[in-house]
Amino acid sequence: MNVAEWLAATARVRPSAPALLTGFDLDADYKTFARRSAAIASALPRDYGIAPGDRVALFSTNCTQYLECLYGIWWMGAVAIPINAKLHGREAAWICSDAGAKLALVSDDTVEALVEAKGDLPEGMRTLSVESQAYRALREGEGARQPVEREVDDLAWLFYTSGTTGRPKGVMLSHGNLVAMTMCYLADVDHATPNDASLYAAPISHGAGLYNFPHVRTGGRHVIPESRGFDPDEVLNLGRQLDNVVMFAAPTMVRRLVDAARRRGVHGEGIRTIIYGGGPMYLADIRDAIATMGQRFVQIYGQGESPMTITALSREWHGHTDHPRYLERLASVGTAQSVMSVRITGRDGELLPPGETGEVEAKGTAVMLGYWNNPQANAETLKDGWLRTGDVGRLDEDGFLTLSDRSKDVIISGGTNIYPREVEEALLTHPDVREVSAIGVPDPDWGEIVVACVVLEQGIAGDDAKLDAHCLASIARFKRPKRYVYLDALPKNNYGKVLKTELRQMMRK
Ligand code: AMP
Repeated sequence: MNVAEWLAATARVRPSAPALLTGFDLDADYKTFARRSAAIASALPRDYGIAPGDRVALFSTNCTQYLECLYGIWWMGAVAIPINAKLHGREAAWICSDAGAKLALVSDDTVEALVEAKGDLPEGMRTLSVESQAYRALREGEGARQPVEREVDDLAWLFYTSGTTGRPKGVMLSHGNLVAMTMCYLADVDHATPNDASLYAAPISHGAGLYNFPHVRTGGRHVIPESRGFDPDEVLNLGRQLDNVVMFAAPTMVRRLVDAARRRGVHGEGIRTIIYGGGPMYLADIRDAIATMGQRFVQIYGQGESPMTITALSREWHGHTDHPRYLERLASVGTAQSVMSVRITGRDGELLPPGETGEVEAKGTAVMLGYWNNPQANAETLKDGWLRTGDVGRLDEDGFLTLSDRSKDVIISGGTNIYPREVEEALLTHPDVREVSAIGVPDPDWGEIVVACVVLEQGIAGDDAKLDAHCLASIARFKRPKRYVYLDALPKNNYGKVLKTELRQMMRK
């Protein structure tokens, strides 16, 4: 099936239900949303020569048109390539080129970057701003009532990895993958109702955008903040006014939201669910978040290659405080989602029993078709349908998965594996520490030593001895950092992920 059928179906049964909003302003009901997408679907072949299977890039900041365009592309059977609007023009051009995009739909604030990178764009690729008069005229045209038929394995979304090491890779997600992910959302993450307000405070090009599906299916509201990005105060205000708000947030966003809620003496009223993931959530931070905002949290663990869909830690588990292993579970990423199997393998690919640490592998209908034009990466990553995630972790006897780190980030000191995350968890419980990232730095005696890159709370001076004593109180002696480096901020990529590669390079200089 074609995922756009969900929009067509909702428009038929709930034509006047509010669909697209900017802040509190209603832009389109479901009938209008579907009519616009159908019109875009007709215009793509007619005006731009797009055929089913062709790639159309979306290089735009969050806006209501983003969703119209996604569905317009699928409606006619083409493939969407959502590109993070914060990327440099040349990076975006590289993606367009790699994917062989024929058209890029842009916003007024990204078009300039793409024009500057003109030399790197695929030949003949055209651009159209979704904020132009031409776009507005186009979406008012005639369109087919029903989306074209698609098979489960037909490509829908070409998702470029954030590329914290090397060039991004194009992850091929099919209509079937997106349906599987949506079913998992409804079974394992949250329910969805027509009263929901799905708030896009994180880029639609990534996880937040993938979570539009359950809300299109059930006819909920899709809300773009007026700021078009993440402003914690704005989110708290929208929560109060809109009610039943559901949003995806990276752990750094959760932290900022919690700080704002505490400062204002509120608890995130009106926000029903905050789904967090995409990077490690430290135990100290999630406990703080629950203490300030209450039980509104669900965690997911996924990656572009199995979008939002490897494991989930449900709302119920976040609240199961009387369970004897509550804290252990809160520090985990939960259990396999409904369409997924998860296993841990050792260095030679052998299956490891519960309790042993190794590489996390996942298999199921949410796993990508493969990488776009990259047989070597496919061979390295997919084996008998199992996705090698590159993450290190362990399962307990009940199936709860605890992640340690990316395998590339594991520190080997004196022949022993040290997982940076353990060191980070320990340091984060110190009140002076705001953020921390532990990395391995080459050392002639030890092979590698642990270096802690620390961002301190405002007005606090670095004190190695104090932090060392704190580590000694909670982790093994050999794991504690041999060096502390104090930074004003940690280097992060456009999705807010800490760039350990960059930290390692900094330390080598
Ligand atoms: P991306 O493909 O950019 O979404 O990045 C996926 C990677 O982010 C995973 O392979 C993990 O290393 C990390 N990640 C995702 N979700 C979580 C989570 N809940 N906890 C810890 N790390 C996560």
